[in-house]
Amino acid sequence: MNVLIIGSGGREHAIAWSLKKSKHVTHIYAIPGNPGIAQIGECIDGRVEDLESILKTVEQKNIDLTVIGPEVPLCLGLADLLEEHGYKVFGPRKQSAMLEGSKAFSKNFMIRHHIPTAQYKEVTREKEAFEALKEFTYPVVVKADGLAAGKGVVIAENESQAKKAITEMLSGRILDGAGKKLVIEEFLTGFECSLLCFVDGQTIVPMVSVKDHKQIYDNNKGPNTGGMGSVSPNPFLEKETENCLNEDILKPFLKGLKEDHLDYRGVIFIGLMVENHKAKVLEFNVRFGDPETQAILMRLESDLYEIMDAVASNRLKDVDIKWSNDVVTCVVLSSQGYPLSYPKGLEITGLDSLSQDIVVFHAGTAVKDNTLVTNGGRVLNICAKGRSLEETRDKVYQAISQIHFDGIYCRKDIGLN
Ligand code: ATP
Repeated sequence: MNVLIIGSGGREHAIAWSLKKSKHVTHIYAIPGNPGIAQIGECIDGRVEDLESILKTVEQKNIDLTVIGPEVPLCLGLADLLEEHGYKVFGPRKQSAMLEGSKAFSKNFMIRHHIPTAQYKEVTREKEAFEALKEFTYPVVVKADGLAAGKGVVIAENESQAKKAITEMLSGRILDGAGKKLVIEEFLTGFECSLLCFVDGQTIVPMVSVKDHKQIYDNNKGPNTGGMGSVSPNPFLEKETENCLNEDILKPFLKGLKEDHLDYRGVIFIGLMVENHKAKVLEFNVRFGDPETQAILMRLESDLYEIMDAVASNRLKDVDIKWSNDVVTCVVLSSQGYPLSYPKGLEITGLDSLSQDIVVFHAGTAVKDNTLVTNGGRVLNICAKGRSLEETRDKVYQAISQIHFDGIYCRKDIGLN
């Protein structure tokens, strides 16, 4: 079988790595891919937003299954286009992708289907927004409706901060129009965790638990990033909470998809805030998380192609998904300056001499003049599997001490805080 993966990050490399082990997969292609994926498949130049040229590749390469990594092509309707031409896709349709693409759509879905979430108000005009603020206490959360790559959420400590955020977002000067509509939301307290599930519209199957680390500095300090590392299982998620998730969140979610006739075949990533063993949904993402996927897929014992094919064909209930009991630690190596500006094109050394049990996923790398160089904020993901968190942390940080590029940075407390 020929598989095409859309995307270029560590997440897509992990998907390619896992699919490579499948007995069904003969060729892996990626648009645009990265140098790590190029070691196990063929990378084809192109933009993930260019739906027509992706369709052409699917036709030319006789692709049996397309796996869509990032949210942007999903929200643009790539799954719809490929399926209309008779091709199989792992990833939800455009209408379903609105669960991530529009916060107002997603909040409305949650409230109508009794999925626990923060109280909210949807607004489009400044006067209406200022009026709505009176219904909330501080801090209050102001969110741009559309996709904003993590920059569309402001936690305002007081009225003047809230009004400033509202005015800026509604002005359209920032966030590329993502803030034409806003969601004003009650501030939730507790600890955050995420739950990823395979879903085919009829069946929903949670994956093993995982914890990511959003902030750039140790002890969860500093600005948010795309994610600085992950561990699976999530050492902070108590059994008591995990047991409630099916009844409280997954069942009403699936019922909601059915009632709203949303065609959803792919992964749903549910961002949660947990307090007193009760979870409320902060957000839905309509795809695998990065770097959660790297840790999760290293624990998958079943054939990923069989799972994805079953999801794409509404047969998820027929597959038995097996996971190892191991612990996985994944640490992100980033460029100096990330998440703000950072240099590119710096030589990366030390990867060739790493021990066999270290798995390296590429994210922001490139090959220039036959040399591997940095090409993004998050550069590499260094991962290890073992019997305990301590063992895998030791392995990963030992490996990291052998890798070099100018300005290399990582958090030292992945899995601990
Ligand atoms: P973007 O659309 O800009 O990519 P996002 O999808 O990451 O943003 P959310 O996940 O809704 O946006 O919010 C980002 C972060 O803001 C959350 O991970 C959480 O830390 C915080 N946050 C969001 N909503 C709330 C809330 N109601 N209460 C407390 N914290 C919140």
